[in-house]
Amino acid sequence: MKYIVILGDGMADYPLTELNGKTPLQIANKPNIDYIALKGRNGILRTIPDKMQPGSDVANLSVLGYDPIKYYTGRGPIEAVSLGINLRENETAFRCNLVTLESNKMKDYSAGHIDSEDAKKLIETINKELGTHSIKFYNGISYRHVLVIANNAIEKTECIPPHDITDQNIDPYLPRGEGSKILLELMKKSQEILKNHPINNKRTREGKKPANFIWPWSQGKKPKLQSFKEKFGVEGAIISAVDLIRGIGLLMGLKVIQVPGATGYYNTNYTGKAEQALKTLENKDFIYIHVEAPDEAGHAADIENKIKAIENIDEKIVGKILNEINELTENYKIAILPDHPTPIKVKTHTKDPVPVAIYTNNEKGDKVTKFDEPSAKKGALGLLEGEQFMNLFIKN
Ligand SMILES: [Zn+2]
Repeated sequence: MKYIVILGDGMADYPLTELNGKTPLQIANKPNIDYIALKGRNGILRTIPDKMQPGSDVANLSVLGYDPIKYYTGRGPIEAVSLGINLRENETAFRCNLVTLESNKMKDYSAGHIDSEDAKKLIETINKELGTHSIKFYNGISYRHVLVIANNAIEKTECIPPHDITDQNIDPYLPRGEGSKILLELMKKSQEILKNHPINNKRTREGKKPANFIWPWSQGKKPKLQSFKEKFGVEGAIISAVDLIRGIGLLMGLKVIQVPGATGYYNTNYTGKAEQALKTLENKDFIYIHVEAPDEAGHAADIENKIKAIENIDEKIVGKILNEINELTENYKIAILPDHPTPIKVKTHTKDPVPVAIYTNNEKGDKVTKFDEPSAKKGALGLLEGEQFMNLFIKN
């Protein structure tokens, strides 16, 4: 048996007046995805536990069959793993943003989406000046970096995501509680180091925002996950352009497959993802294909590109796989779902359960004929909770 999960990040939505009360999934022309729903069993899946934030990390852990309440420790350690950092038992990893402050206000949580080349030089300087045997800064992509501290007090420090305090005075949102002193000192010193850094002088001259502060948040220790192979008995791989999703895969012992031209944006190489998935299935039994584009469109409130992203997933990924999978195997299962909704109206993630369809090629389906939010609710699978999905998908 071969198992294929196709995940359209943030694909689910709310009815829109611009679409005559329909959702992008209902409007998109997607014959292949609808075929999965028509021939398969359908339901809705709760991917975000009650008390947790609807992040892609939490949601994808759920979809992959791991209870986030038990296993999620923070974004920092997942990104650390995706950067190849080998976190030790006594180390805590933070996501560390390069940000722009203006008159002590959070002007930009991304320092103007600083390019990786500029960011690398800044992080290298910070690490040279502030790094010790127990404090290390690691350079990531754009504004997204990692700070690792070997100190047990730091795990419980209260930290706030910088994208939640745009244009606000930062003082009430600085790290608080146990261990915060270490962070506050690093942040203060970063300001002095970055203030007149040649890279920032150049950025200001070019009319770009300077990266004049660091902001550590979402810290945790390395989660201890049983491998996917041990848990579900199949060897698997993951395809994603997003560090956070790759990190989750690595933590589970899934092989990360590189796809040239996979960008995590509207222009991603959809066909390449399908090609690599099929190739991977020649010697592995499970593939998880993550596509970021519909989520980006949701955040941008871009209806047209959200529909287009769904249609691209339909034609270039689901269609291609349905066309070619028979050459590879006689028995297969395909599931299609989002990790969480990213509704156009709210421009951010929500916790609503998501539609899911599971197609097994030699089994009968239920009565649902289309893949969308209202149709899925009428499916035979009913409401599934978190890790139930993967158990059902692989163990039946
Ligand atoms: Zn997501």
